[in-house]
Amino acid sequence: MNSTATDLRDPECIFCKIIAGEIPSERVHEDEQVIAFQDLSPKAPVHLLVVPREHHRDVRDLADRPELLAHVVQIASRVASEQADGDFRLIFNTGANAGQTVFHVHAHVLAGETLPEGEM
Ligand code: AMP
Ligand code: ZN
Repeated sequence: MNSTATDLRDPECIFCKIIAGEIPSERVHEDEQVIAFQDLSPKAPVHLLVVPREHHRDVRDLADRPELLAHVVQIASRVASEQADGDFRLIFNTGANAGQTVFHVHAHVLAGETLPEGEM
């Protein structure tokens, strides 16, 4: 059986629920592969999450999907240009010890004036 994005859903996963529209989000972009929405607890003037529709645990798993990983970066760049000056910090917290709390891969896009150094 072919694997589809629908197969790659975790019923317990909060981001899968956001993707399915079961939990509301402030979306700024969506296409067939990813959605991007506002982080609930922003750490910068612009703080967005770019999230593949397929449920993958973390960015290590996306190394096997280079086109999808590249698309995440492209969309991060696009939304940073739309919402700020185009410069951005891209963060993939990977593993609980690195601060990952939602185990559905997502890129944090931090942008806007005066990004603090050394912090998230
Ligand atoms: P991480 O700690 O890297 O796994 O990031 C998870 C991020 O998801 C955090 O920055 C949270 O603020 C954010 N988050 C959690 N729940 C929601 C939600 N329902 N809508 C938007 N962002 C969320
Ligand atoms: Zn998920």
